[in-house]
Amino acid sequence: KGNQPSLLSAQGITKSFGGIRAVQGVNFDVAVGEIVGLVGPNGSGKSTLLGCLSRDILLDAGRIVFDGTDVTRLRAMQVARNGIGRTFQNVRIFPELSVWENALMGRQWKGVGLRDMLRPADIATRQRAADLIELMGFPQLIHEYAGNLSGGQMRLLELVMAMMSRPRLVMLDEATSGVNPTLIESLKHYVKVLNQEERVAFIVVEHNIGFIFSIADRIVVLNDGRLLADGSPEQIQHNEEVIVAYLGA
Ligand code: ADP
Ligand code: MG
Repeated sequence: KGNQPSLLSAQGITKSFGGIRAVQGVNFDVAVGEIVGLVGPNGSGKSTLLGCLSRDILLDAGRIVFDGTDVTRLRAMQVARNGIGRTFQNVRIFPELSVWENALMGRQWKGVGLRDMLRPADIATRQRAADLIELMGFPQLIHEYAGNLSGGQMRLLELVMAMMSRPRLVMLDEATSGVNPTLIESLKHYVKVLNQEERVAFIVVEHNIGFIFSIADRIVVLNDGRLLADGSPEQIQHNEEVIVAYLGA
């Protein structure tokens, strides 16, 4: 995938919270169809960087170009409409709605307002929801309350919701936390399927290093809000600085 055109290009991304410099001057690129693993110790700025890229967090400085458009000053909803989907470190679903209704809520990322969400979805939208639920292997749960799903099934449902608007880039924040090993394998499988079938690029933030190494084309390492390394899984595995940062040696 080395020669694909750029999909996301971020330069000098900087964000502080009070006196805490969460992200400091990070450059970050994603090519079309690329799966990028984003790793680093707790508090190294991974979630903040994702929030800056999806515009859920206002940047202090930096510039973000997505698919040829400068999105630095756009709001999160506008960026979503431009083709970025994401999930959050803490599960965000609607527990009192069914799996099916949750999937349809993914329409919000296409800019459908909450008021319009009360109307029935059009055929294309319902077909998309049905296809995604089928693809992710839980059509038997379609009428289940989302709150009754296992942690892993909730993560898959979030991925369905993020995929509703046919994004070109999806960001997953710690999607394997609280997920049993079988469903981690499923999640890995579906990320690969979506990557291949719809050419969706992914930024995958993970504590689960095994998951990252088995899925990422490239790995970016943050430490203390700064970029520590950016390379192939092979290069990262043998990078002295990364080993020191992780093992604290
Ligand atoms: P990671 O996802 O790598 O664990 P975060 O991006 O969540 O790291 O956090 C980076 C730093 O910014 C940490 O020191 C964290 O405490 C701080 N931080 C993150 N979000 C906020 C916030 N909303 N308010 C204050 N400090 C924050
Ligand atoms: Mg985080």
